[in-house]
Amino acid sequence: MPTYLGTCHCGAIRFEVTGELQEVTLCNCSLCARNAFLHWEVEPKQFQLHTSDEVIQDYQFGTMTSHNFFCKTCGISAFRRSRTSPDQIDINVRCLQGVDADALEIERFDGKNWDEAYAASEFASNRGKSNRDT
Ligand SMILES: [Zn+2]
Repeated sequence: MPTYLGTCHCGAIRFEVTGELQEVTLCNCSLCARNAFLHWEVEPKQFQLHTSDEVIQDYQFGTMTSHNFFCKTCGISAFRRSRTSPDQIDINVRCLQGVDADALEIERFDGKNWDEAYAASEFASNRGKSNRDT
């Protein structure tokens, strides 16, 4: 299983992610449309943050569900907690060393029309499944 090193631009935020890089998603919501965050959702156990919380700022908007972390120094958003999968870590693939983002197969999420896109997505069906299981 590959391990990727992730950093913001200035290097204040550093983390490692272990896993097969797949299901990379580009979203067109009001935030992602501006910063081109390229999403890879992983389990918290796959993610290790090597940075103190003090270098990180959280930005929330709209429903105040997502946590859009960014570096206080360089402004780069290297990972998040997304609205679609709040229990997972949302990695910005563009911040991973050795990854050519342009070579990946990219899925689209219509975050501009979030409620409809979510209802039609695997996120909602996964949630429905786990609700039935409990
Ligand atoms: Zn930085």
